[in-house]
Amino acid sequence: MPFRAFINGQEVIALEVTTTQWQTYQKDRTKVVTMSCCQNRGILKTSHKGLQFFAHHPDNPKPLNCSYKGETEQHLRAKMAIRNACLELAGVACNVEVSGQGWRADVLAIKGNRKIAFEIQWSPQNIVETQIRQERYRQSGVECVWLFRIISDLSPNPSLPIFQLIETGGEFKVKVESHYLSLEDFVKAWLNGQIQYCTYLQSSTYQKINIGISSCFCAKCQEKNHYFQILNSIYPSECSFPVERNQSKRTKLEFRPEIVQIIQKFLEQQEQEDLYLANIEFYYLFSQKIWRFTCCWCGTPINEDNEPECIAILEHKIRFNPLIADQAFPHWCWSKSALFCNQPIVSNEPQQSVIWIEGRKKSNSVTNKKSSIYVKKEIETKFFKLSTTEIEQADLPISIENKSDSPISSWNTYRCQDEISTELKPIWDLIYNSLPQKYEGFFRCSASLKSFDEQIIIIDLIPPNRVQTLNEYMQIFLITCQTVFQSKSLRVKAELLNSREILWDSQSALIQWESQDVVINLSQIWQHFLDQIPSNHNSLRQLLKQHGNLLEIQKSQVIISLSSQPLIKRVKMDEFLIKEIFEKCLEQSVDVAFILQ
Ligand SMILES: [Zn+2]
Ligand SMILES: [Zn+2]
Ligand SMILES: [Zn+2]
Ligand SMILES: [Zn+2]
Repeated sequence: MPFRAFINGQEVIALEVTTTQWQTYQKDRTKVVTMSCCQNRGILKTSHKGLQFFAHHPDNPKPLNCSYKGETEQHLRAKMAIRNACLELAGVACNVEVSGQGWRADVLAIKGNRKIAFEIQWSPQNIVETQIRQERYRQSGVECVWLFRIISDLSPNPSLPIFQLIETGGEFKVKVESHYLSLEDFVKAWLNGQIQYCTYLQSSTYQKINIGISSCFCAKCQEKNHYFQILNSIYPSECSFPVERNQSKRTKLEFRPEIVQIIQKFLEQQEQEDLYLANIEFYYLFSQKIWRFTCCWCGTPINEDNEPECIAILEHKIRFNPLIADQAFPHWCWSKSALFCNQPIVSNEPQQSVIWIEGRKKSNSVTNKKSSIYVKKEIETKFFKLSTTEIEQADLPISIENKSDSPISSWNTYRCQDEISTELKPIWDLIYNSLPQKYEGFFRCSASLKSFDEQIIIIDLIPPNRVQTLNEYMQIFLITCQTVFQSKSLRVKAELLNSREILWDSQSALIQWESQDVVINLSQIWQHFLDQIPSNHNSLRQLLKQHGNLLEIQKSQVIISLSSQPLIKRVKMDEFLIKEIFEKCLEQSVDVAFILQ
C-alpha cells in the first residue's frame, strides 16, 4: 500500500493531497490510476482512521510483476511519522517512497550533502538480505537506517544501523539502548547527529556529586581532623548509562583539585572554629603514587571510615577533566548535547591532576589577615610589629581568590611539575629520595631544583601556608642536602612565587627574608622567655626547655607546643606566670595556648 501513484498521468503523493481534493478524485469516474511500483491499475483508498493511500486494483491485487507487497497500515503510518518529523526540521528535504539504483526507500531525507534513507521492516527480514540492500544504498551514496519490528540481534553495528521499532497503542517508539524514543524524536536525533556509535562508555564531563565531610580523631595524637569522601559510586555517561567507577586508591577522585577547592572554600565559610582539614599527601608503593589523608597535627595517616558519619554533605555539579570513568561497551550513544562517550578528552591536562595541599587550621587567628607576628630587625634589638601587607606575604596564605580570576587555573600552580632539566633531575631525585618520607611528597610537588654548586642549592618553591611549617620543612631539606653533599656549610635558597628569596644555613634556625633583612625568630623569643622565668620556678623552666617549644605567635595568642598531655596539665598550673612573662617579652597583652605535638 503506497502513498505514490499516477492519476491521469500525473504523479500524486496521497499524503500531500487535501481531504476535499482526495474526495474529488474518488468521485471522478473517468480518472486513470497507475501504480508507481509496477504500472498496473490502482485505486484510491481511505482507511477508517482517515489515512489516504493507493492500492492495486481489486481485479489484480497482487500483480506478479510488482515487488511491492504486503505493506500494512502500521507501515504506512510509520512512514508518515518519519516524513512529518523530517519536515519539522529546518534544512531537511524529504519524500516518501523514493526509488534509486536497485532501491526504494520508505522515506528519503536530504540534509546538506547527506542522503539518509529510513527503511521500515514490519515483516521479518534476514540479515543477509538486509546487508545486500544496505550495500545498494551505500553504492548510491545513501546512508540507510533500518527500523525492524522484529529484531534478532541487537548488537550495534555502525555500518548497518538497525533499531527496534515498537508500536504500542498506536504510538511508535524506537529503542536506542535503554531509551525509548518516539519515532519522531528518533528521526530528528538521527538527522541532527545526536545518535552515534561508541565503542566504550564514558562518564560525562559534568557530574553531580555528593561530598561527605567527616571528622575523626588521629590514632596517634588523638587530635581532631576533618576529611572528605565522594559518596557517589555511579557516574552517568552523556547517554545516561550508569558508569561505575573503580575507586582505586591511586586515582582517588577526592584529591582532584576541583574537589579540594570546594572543600577549602566550604571550610573557610564556616563559622565554627574547630574545622581542621587533614593533610593530603602521597607515598610510593611499588613505584605507584598513592594519595591519602594524614593528620594535620602529626602527619600520621588517617584511617578513613568506609561508611563515615558525615557532618556535612555538599552537593556540587562539577566539570571533571579528564573524565573519571570508562569501560569498553559498544553502544548507540544518544546524547542531546551531542557530546558522546567516544568524545576525545579535549584537554592537555595530565592524566592525573593532583595537588599538594597542607591541611589548614581553621581558626580566627589564622584566617584573620590583621594578625601580626613579632619580628626582630637584625640591627635593632627591640621587637616591633610588621605591617599588614608584610604579614600577608610572610604568612603566605594559600588563597584561591587572590591568585587569579579562574580558581582552577590558580590550582595549576600546585600541580606536580616536571620542569626540572634532565641534567638536574638525577641530583634532584637523589635529594628527595634521601628526605624523610613525611617530607618527600611536599618537595616532590611543591619544589624544583633550579641550580646548585658546592656552596648553595637554589630551588623554586611553592610555600605551605604557615611560616612555621615552611621553616620546619626547609630545615629538614637543608640537613638532607648537607648529608647528601657531605658539606656542613652548604646553604639552601628558596625562590618563592612572589619572587621573594629565603635563605637557610646551619648557623641558626632563622628564616632570612633577604629582600627586607627581617628575621622571624621564634627560637630567640622562646629563649628570651625561658631566661625570664624566675629562679624559684626552675623546674618549670627545665620542663619547658626540654619538652616545649614556641610554635607560633598569632595576633595576641602565643602557642606553645608540648610533647605530652600530662605536661600540658602541669604547665597549665603556671599559666598565669607564663602569660605574664610573655607579656613582658612582647610588650603587649597575650593569651597563651598549649598544644600537643
Ligand atoms: Zn505495484
Ligand atoms: Zn518498507
Ligand atoms: Zn595526629
Ligand atoms: Zn554513550
